[in-house]
Amino acid sequence: MEQFDIAICGFGPVGSTFAGLMGKLGHRVLVIEKNSGPSPTARAINTDGEQLRTFDRLNIAEKVVENSAEVHRVHFGDADLNPIQTIDQPVGVSSMGWPTQVLFYQPELEGFIRSAVAKDSNITLKEDTELIDFEDTEEGVSLKCVSSDSEIQYRAKFLIGCDGASSFIRKKLDVGLEDFEYNQEWLVCDAHLTEKVDIPENEAMQICDPKRPGTYVPGRRGHLRFEFKKMPGENSEELEKDENVWKLLKPWINESNATLERAQVYAFHACIAESWCKGNILIAGDAAHQMPPFMGAGMGTGIRDITNISWKLDLLLNNKAGPEILNTYQDERHSHAKWTIAQTVTIGQVIEGFCAAAEGKDYEPKGPSYDVKFPHIPVGIYSDPEDTVTGVPIPQPIINIENKEELMDRVIGSNFALITNEINLELSKKAKRIIELLEIKKITLGEDDDPEKRLKNVFDKYDAVLVRPDKYTYGGVEDISKVSEMIESLEKEFSLIV
Ligand SMILES: Cc1cc2nc3c(=O)[nH]c(=O)nc-3n(C[C@H](O)[C@H](O)[C@H](O)COP(=O)(O)OP(=O)(O)OC[C@H]3O[C@@H](n4cnc5c(N)ncnc54)[C@H](O)[C@@H]3O)c2cc1C
Repeated sequence: MEQFDIAICGFGPVGSTFAGLMGKLGHRVLVIEKNSGPSPTARAINTDGEQLRTFDRLNIAEKVVENSAEVHRVHFGDADLNPIQTIDQPVGVSSMGWPTQVLFYQPELEGFIRSAVAKDSNITLKEDTELIDFEDTEEGVSLKCVSSDSEIQYRAKFLIGCDGASSFIRKKLDVGLEDFEYNQEWLVCDAHLTEKVDIPENEAMQICDPKRPGTYVPGRRGHLRFEFKKMPGENSEELEKDENVWKLLKPWINESNATLERAQVYAFHACIAESWCKGNILIAGDAAHQMPPFMGAGMGTGIRDITNISWKLDLLLNNKAGPEILNTYQDERHSHAKWTIAQTVTIGQVIEGFCAAAEGKDYEPKGPSYDVKFPHIPVGIYSDPEDTVTGVPIPQPIINIENKEELMDRVIGSNFALITNEINLELSKKAKRIIELLEIKKITLGEDDDPEKRLKNVFDKYDAVLVRPDKYTYGGVEDISKVSEMIESLEKEFSLIV
């Protein structure tokens, strides 16, 4: 029976990116996917600077950006598409070192990830192969799969369920879902322009029409995304018929200037799994959380999950940390994902609120509301996250390495990094041992580094900061003599075997 370090069930955007990260870290990865080839249609369309930092680890971030569009404004509009309220979006390169947000085309994105994965001999991809059973033992996980009517068995030290919203792995582990009771059906349409038409190019709209709330998003190279709420009493099959879809699209496009890729009714839910890790089995992506797509954040939340777990599994597989490190995965990611779900539900509520106002009705939102401030991770950090530096991704400057300008992430790679302006550091023996164990990179910033001053806020407060391999700031010290203490604290925080 073939033996792997990691088995990943599901080769969607989350599972495939995860495979790429683990393969790059040198682990033997098995991916099991019941379908074959990239997803033929788009679902996710929006990604952000933080995810681009993860895609950069697979050397595909530039390709994603080159093949994308940016939204300059998001409107909440009335039934006649007149803006009621407008939110200006930041455009261009952000403090993450990449654009704040870009709109991509999912089949293309999956193609980029697939070609990165295909180059990696550590990764074995088994398509047309369905995971039908598994058993977790002290020695690892045994997997039973079916391919072309024959049964195949594999073994892996860890199994990660990136198997989507109806996750077989989550169900077999009997993991419950916390339900936000947001259940709506929407018709999702993707179209492509065949000629230039006079519609907003970089402006998206949430259409607050009480008779038919909707969403319009202009993607890259003439790709257009529309979403329309299915109204009470409507039939999905009827709504999906081409002639009905074209009627809905009339304010923007018609058959003479665009083609329809697909129109399909999706059920939008908001829920989060109660347990993300049991023994040697973890879940990530839509298997762990689902949300309506109003913020375009579902895939991104999954990419954050696997960026978080990849370095922890790496330490565990290299016997540098004990199994308790896996507990930090859910502790760090759950509240973060829950915040994102609440945020997307709130956008849905804003649309409903404007719709009610258009009819002169009162509207009382149900369910969670969110704090507008992007949350820090609650644990796995050293200093006080109120500093706005700790527990969130560190800004990414350009730094000079041997007279060559380089994005800081590319210098850090998949290691921890100690970033400081101090040249001479007095370190304790234990701190030195941890630096050696984790191969912590020391980056001393010189005068030519960080020309855009992206790290100004960080170094206005701290003399040195420690950055985790997922590029979240672990913590900072105001007094450089405390740097050993901060490094030593990693032992307890991540169950290091020092
Ligand atoms: C209309 C719409 C718009 C969206 N827009 C955005 C957006 O703009 N930005 C964003 O970030 N997110 C968006 N999302 C959400 C995003 O599409 C999902 O969060 C994302 O696809 C989840 O990726 P995943 O890899 O976790 O799961 P999936 O993409 O669902 O992949 C799961 C994979 O597992 C495989 N699988 C399942 N069970 C088994 C098994 N037993 N054996 C083998 N293989 C199995 C499946 O075949 C599938 O390939 C949108 C979603 C919708 C519906």
